Amino acid sequence: MGEGRALVVGSEPISPPFPLRMQGYVQRGFGRGSKDLGIPTANLPEESYNESFKLLDAAKNTGVYYGWAKVDGVENAQVHPMAMSVGWNPYYKNEKLTAEVHIMHNYDMDFYGKNMRVIVTGYVRPELDYSTLEALIEDIEFDKKVAIHSLDRQSYKLLKSDSFFN
Ligand code: ADP
Ligand code: MG
Repeated sequence: MGEGRALVVGSEPISPPFPLRMQGYVQRGFGRGSKDLGIPTANLPEESYNESFKLLDAAKNTGVYYGWAKVDGVENAQVHPMAMSVGWNPYYKNEKLTAEVHIMHNYDMDFYGKNMRVIVTGYVRPELDYSTLEALIEDIEFDKKVAIHSLDRQSYKLLKSDSFFN
């Protein structure tokens, strides 16, 4: 829907705790069918985000974040906008958090096991309960627009060429 939602979120210039840098080998998820919805989400390993999640107080601030991401070892590897979902993992009885990254780029292949680098630059919105799948997908589509518009500011654009990605 996106009604009443801002297209640009977060301060300019970017301010702490952002930006947060994390990287790890992409893990297999639990096949909740994100890809079937056209929104594949690549899972980061826990050790890659533990420290950053402390700074975010992520246990209290679950929901959607945005930033930049790059997958190493794919053809023509580049930095792309991303939206990251942070939430409790039902598999671990909701005692562990997951970080699932949707990269706004069409990859030719899956990249399980490849190193993924992520710079988280801001918070988009909390997790919501949806009555329909359509409502969920509409909100995610709006999240992607928010990410792209929010990244289109000087201090955020600079991070696209951050040395962390080299
Ligand atoms: P899983 O439950 O294993 O996370 P998904 O259906 O969420 O399965 O698909 C995620 C996988 O899809 C990623 O691990 C990655 O290998 C692949 N993938 C392909 N394109 C993308 C993309 N644009 N963003 C994120 N993951 C992608
Ligand atoms: Mg996934």
